Amino acid sequence: MDTSKNRHGLSRTIRESVKREIRQRCGFGCVKCGCAVYQYEHVDPEFSDAKIHDPERIVLLCGGCHDLVNRGLLSKESIKQCSMNPKCFQTGFSFGPFDIGTCDPEITLGTYKCKKVKTLISVYGEPVLSVAPPEFEHGPFIINAYMSDREGNELLRIERNEWKSRSENWDVEVVGNRITIRKKLGDIALAIRSEPPSKLVFERVNMLFKGVKISCKDSEHITVVTPRGQFLYANAMEVYDYDKGLNIIENGFELPSGGGKHSRISFGRCIIDCNSVSIKSNQ
Ligand SMILES: [Zn+2]
Repeated sequence: MDTSKNRHGLSRTIRESVKREIRQRCGFGCVKCGCAVYQYEHVDPEFSDAKIHDPERIVLLCGGCHDLVNRGLLSKESIKQCSMNPKCFQTGFSFGPFDIGTCDPEITLGTYKCKKVKTLISVYGEPVLSVAPPEFEHGPFIINAYMSDREGNELLRIERNEWKSRSENWDVEVVGNRITIRKKLGDIALAIRSEPPSKLVFERVNMLFKGVKISCKDSEHITVVTPRGQFLYANAMEVYDYDKGLNIIENGFELPSGGGKHSRISFGRCIIDCNSVSIKSNQ
């Protein structure tokens, strides 16, 4: 017997366009609790009785809430109620965890790689991406970040290892260890890949923050353009053991380089064209 199909011949596989409709209708998280690590669940009717994949009758449900339903601790009726008023639209966001472990995490944005760096990106004194050491022995490193789209609208923020994505996004998809936020079909505004215990990879960034454009794509160069037209293009930049990595200041960029025995910066074909470049070492 083919278990991938029900008695009506309906396949378990849901079309991508239908999945997106379900995600949008549920605000990109579990209808009960808002968790963004979910599965697609037929509620009314259940999959065994369904004849079509109707996006109005399928919900996002996280593993925890799904388990509660299976154990009879949460009713299908409650889930149906939640489906009409999904949690994410009440709170404004869906959420999920990042596990960056108890050893110094390695964080990558395109070609910009950091380890033992406290503030990876700072714009006019405000941290955009930062990592704090554990607050207690054997505790986790703590990551905070603010990620926006190319118009400056918030897409996702990371607060103490919990990421939150806004329900008014066009599409937020979590598949395996990757979060992808799209502005429209084929237009990826942000993609983050989590590789516990200690790696976090920003595969795609295309953001505007305080007038500064910051972008990277997969393993291609990271590009920063300031409102004054100052331009930083780095095709290989590794920073190790510094308080600050890429620091965008009023007149240009501050980058760690030279002197420090733990620092290394490889510019390769990088172009830096700005009025003032200040290269400092922690040493
Ligand atoms: Zn849930």
